[in-house]
Amino acid sequence: MSGIPGSYRSPRCVVRPSGVHGSGLFAAEPIPQGEVIAIRGGHIVPKAVALDIDARLGGYSHPLTDDWFLAPLDASEVEDVVIFFNHGCTPNIAPQGQVVFAATRDIAAGEEILCDYVTIVCYPEYKLQCRCGSAECRSVVTGDDWRTPELQQRYRGRFSTQIQQKIDAGRGGESHE
Ligand SMILES: [Zn+2]
Repeated sequence: MSGIPGSYRSPRCVVRPSGVHGSGLFAAEPIPQGEVIAIRGGHIVPKAVALDIDARLGGYSHPLTDDWFLAPLDASEVEDVVIFFNHGCTPNIAPQGQVVFAATRDIAAGEEILCDYVTIVCYPEYKLQCRCGSAECRSVVTGDDWRTPELQQRYRGRFSTQIQQKIDAGRGGESHE
């Protein structure tokens, strides 16, 4: 054990280079719907610290609340702390709660594990160019996508607790709070 508060990745998955972006997480064998794929770890840091780390290391933080994020503290921790699944506009996993991720359908061996970041990211500073190649690709993914009624409908029951609470509170239609 390294002492770093790392993430859990299913032993059915492997990290390897991805056609979508950098490294990706792939199913090494068939994974049934509902199985836990990963549990996110990291140091609990204030949002401003997380965004500063992201600017230096490359976007590896994970939001817990509007004010608190999980993040690696330096490059040496990235491999342990980051799960390495990419965003995809046609995903096959979704969050359960805030840090657990499970398969939303049966996943075949060799498939890349993809999560639509609309289900986990809801801060306005966030922006990602997507090249996932899906027919449903939004091209640009932002921290405000969760406000979109079509996406709220599509991912009903598959948002992180943080985002679901915002949707339930009816805050989706407001501009940045
Ligand atoms: Zn896409």
